[in-house]
Amino acid sequence: MLRPVEFSHRTRAANLRELAARRFDVVVIGGGITGAGVARDAALRGLSVALLERRDFACGTSSRSSKLIHGGLRYLQQGDVGLVREAATERYAVRKLAPHLARPVQMLFPIYSRASYAKMSAGLWTYDKLASIPDVERHRMLSRDEALTLEPRLRADKLYAAGLYTEYLTDDARLVIEVIKAAAALGALPANYCEAEDFLFDNARAVGVVARDHVSGDAFEVRGRVLINAAGPWVDAVRLRGEPGDAPRLQLTKGVHLGVRTARIGLSRIVVMNARDKRGVFAIPRGAVTYLGTTDTFYDRVEDYPRVTLDDVHYLLDAANRTFAVEPALTAADVVNAWAGLRPLLAQAGKAPSELSRKDEVMVAPSGLVSVAGGKLTTFRRMAERVVDLAAEQLAAQGAAAPARRGASHAELLGSSGTGDDVPAFAASLRERWPLLAGDLIERLVTLYGSHAERIVDGIAADPLLGERFDPALPVTRAEVEYGVREEMAMTLEDFIERRSRLLLWDLQLGGSVAVGVAATMGRLLGWDDTRVRDELARHRTLAEHLTTFVADDDTAPTPGVAQAADA
Ligand code: FAD
Repeated sequence: MLRPVEFSHRTRAANLRELAARRFDVVVIGGGITGAGVARDAALRGLSVALLERRDFACGTSSRSSKLIHGGLRYLQQGDVGLVREAATERYAVRKLAPHLARPVQMLFPIYSRASYAKMSAGLWTYDKLASIPDVERHRMLSRDEALTLEPRLRADKLYAAGLYTEYLTDDARLVIEVIKAAAALGALPANYCEAEDFLFDNARAVGVVARDHVSGDAFEVRGRVLINAAGPWVDAVRLRGEPGDAPRLQLTKGVHLGVRTARIGLSRIVVMNARDKRGVFAIPRGAVTYLGTTDTFYDRVEDYPRVTLDDVHYLLDAANRTFAVEPALTAADVVNAWAGLRPLLAQAGKAPSELSRKDEVMVAPSGLVSVAGGKLTTFRRMAERVVDLAAEQLAAQGAAAPARRGASHAELLGSSGTGDDVPAFAASLRERWPLLAGDLIERLVTLYGSHAERIVDGIAADPLLGERFDPALPVTRAEVEYGVREEMAMTLEDFIERRSRLLLWDLQLGGSVAVGVAATMGRLLGWDDTRVRDELARHRTLAEHLTTFVADDDTAPTPGVAQAADA
């Protein structure tokens, strides 16, 4: 069994004290997957690392993705063989790092003509070869009848055949948190709610940042030999603070996902839908919710919660209604929740949103500031290696000695591989050991927390009070909340409900039925008074409303919620 590793508000307070007191080899700005990966890689190389995140870890794009660790079949269509090879190799690397965060899932690609069949068959064959796909995961071409047997809700009228292949499903925010915890266990000092507001210069070289602790409101200096800007959609904002005259480099595009009830759409595996503009869009079943996405449209401003427009909603529902025979057809009233993320892509003149390269790009400013943009969740490990290679060069140029390595970057994340490759078998072994504990509780904990679930389950077995549910219908317990606060630095109700437990995405009531109990438990652990508890609950309600409210396409007039979480 893994030992508990404290990573809490107390760790945060201790980290903040150290951040102000020391000079670090590397200061990372941004706690999404890019910053998390860089912090871990640098810590693995024995470097001292500070990581500053202005809100919560994974609060940006890294909690709003399609949640696929994928080999990039789409990039093959664009002729980017290098990206396919890298993504395919990295898929396995992520699976080794944390098997519960890279679950193999079948993907069904409906085909509507003989010509498309030939193209798809050749594409999947090439993909299997290029990506060295193991035998069990190789693609199969299905006849029309076979496809309909697997997914009876597919519209049969124009269906010709289908391709079936395997990709991996992850949980983006959970992946980020696991990577950050792994970095912390290697000595990195992460702090959420701590923003890099300005740069410190010495002879035009960036030598640190002025950081603000958003909990106390205090500002302090964090000094570093190499500064890495991994601020995702905010990369330009951070970069231009250090290089005011420089031109912006990013072109953001918005990607929206809609959640609908799985019972309504009735899929057993991921299906690729054909949108009205011929883009491939996924329908991804995940427990009670099936999410549809994504869109890809230019977006001209950086926001924590980009708005979902009615056009986004209609575009995705139209793709679903074209692909599936759902009676009556899906409408906006079926939408349980909707979330939008911004892709931090590099601007390329004249290209449409879906044509912009998904490759990561590293920019080094004259001040030495290293900025990273683009990239995928899937390739975070390789991207981090490249960035830290560059940081190591800068450190060597400054005369810093290279410290001894602490581990390999393909090594597991803080005991995450303790489940073994067969995650369901791990859950079954826990159910066997604790037959009196509810199966859905064990299932939930293993899905979210992998082998760490064992310790949470053992805790509940030892103290049944920890296993009490806040809502009898939902296996969310005090034990899970305590784990989030003590071992995952959850500082607010939103941190727990949105990014630790993912209730905002996968629960039909967006965590509404447990919010009061969770807030009370967090309040006890974090010392909140009644006013703070009320404020946290109000913020959760606002956020849930945001996820169920769509704006008119001119983005000015807010439209009242068309699907209320409370109705679910
Ligand atoms: P972010 O996750 O946005 O992290 C940047 C962080 O920096 C934020 O948390 C922000 O708060 C913080 N920050 C900003 N300014 C400051 C500051 N001054 N001080 C401190 N912190 C700061 N990839 C895949 O591999 N598979 C997929 O299925 C997939 N689907 C996607 C679907 C959509 C709709 C989108 C938008 C992207 C998808 N991607 C996918 C791509 C992937 O999600 C992103 O490339 C990745 O999450 C970007 O991570 P990041 O760390 O660079 O940015």
